[in-house]
Amino acid sequence: MSDALLGCRGVKLAYRTGKRALEILKGVDLEVREGECLAITGLSGAGKSTLLNVLGGLCRPDEGCVEWKGKDVYRMGEGERSRWRAREVGFVFQSYHLLPEMTIEENVLLAGLNLPGGWLRGKALRERASGLLERVGLGGRRAHRPNELSGGEQQRAALARALMNHPKLLLADEPTGNLDAQTGEDVMRCLFELRETEGLTVAMVTHNEELAGRCTRRVRMEEGRIA
Ligand code: ADP
Repeated sequence: MSDALLGCRGVKLAYRTGKRALEILKGVDLEVREGECLAITGLSGAGKSTLLNVLGGLCRPDEGCVEWKGKDVYRMGEGERSRWRAREVGFVFQSYHLLPEMTIEENVLLAGLNLPGGWLRGKALRERASGLLERVGLGGRRAHRPNELSGGEQQRAALARALMNHPKLLLADEPTGNLDAQTGEDVMRCLFELRETEGLTVAMVTHNEELAGRCTRRVRMEEGRIA
């Protein structure tokens, strides 16, 4: 995993219900190299989302390791892994996962408060949040709650939230999966623009062939393995 920002080796994972174990990841080796935009494609049920969660430190595999710049993510303590995630990794999910009681701006700001000392940097955080909301075209909507926005607008807000702490890596799980073609295109334009300006490395799960074609590299998952 030499020049990889993030990588996994021999990753296996099974979900257990009662006595049955459903093998989802069957020995995955994958590198996400610094600066690249990697598309992970494959049929539904192939294990793509599970792999993304494992890579992002959200789901410990049964076997194998995940390394960030050579350091084993699942050997970090819980607190260290949480700080690593908050600082280095942004997540975007298919269904946005914005907190409904909060405004868009508060949702974005909250990500900044996740870091140690966040509460002491109020002014800088507000400037970062408002700058990001401008850049995703939501400058005029910051006081709105998620249910007052369209799906595409919510996903652009989720993108702003993911980038709040200047992560090096963005992990995106079907970011346009719930959106029509035009709205999905708007979200992707924002994502690719921010990738350039923020110097982001991206790994994204997608069914969308056109989108995968615009990434710098693509891999395909088949039944729990990289094909
Ligand atoms: P993909 O993203 O490629 O569609 P997933 O990683 O979401 O695939 O899911 C792979 C398989 O794991 C699917 O068959 C799914 O039903 C199953 N699965 C996902 N999450 C769980 C879970 N928490 N418990 C049991 N099975 C799960």
